[in-house]
Amino acid sequence: MMNRRLFLQTAACWSALLALPKVAFAEGLKLIDLSGKKRADAANKTAMGIAQGLNYVEDVAQAAKEGKVKFPDKGGVKMADQPCSSCNFYTCVEGQKAGKCMLIPGVLVHAGGGCMSWVKGAKKACVKA
Ligand code: SF4
Repeated sequence: MMNRRLFLQTAACWSALLALPKVAFAEGLKLIDLSGKKRADAANKTAMGIAQGLNYVEDVAQAAKEGKVKFPDKGGVKMADQPCSSCNFYTCVEGQKAGKCMLIPGVLVHAGGGCMSWVKGAKKACVKA
């Protein structure tokens, strides 16, 4: 069940997503840099803001182990078992351990990453990078 805080955070992220230009979905995307040290471009800056709103982590299994962030179980699936690669919003990119996330456009996200908006998805074919 979604609590008020989670609902407001999700709504804020959707608002930011809808404000982005369609060009953000173009090919040739690079992996998100949450530190902002390796990438200082606008796409990464925007993605970082959205990712922070979603409590995105680069390794959801590790984050669950360390207890840095806590995502609720969804349909009986524990946080550690909620990687981007099994999320409905994720499309894997062939040849990379990363893929596209519909909620964090303009960058690639880590296949083993995760966020509070994870939704169990069907297995999809990978797209070419
Ligand atoms: S693919 Fe899913 S779990 Fe990963 S960041 Fe996007 S919404 Fe969150």
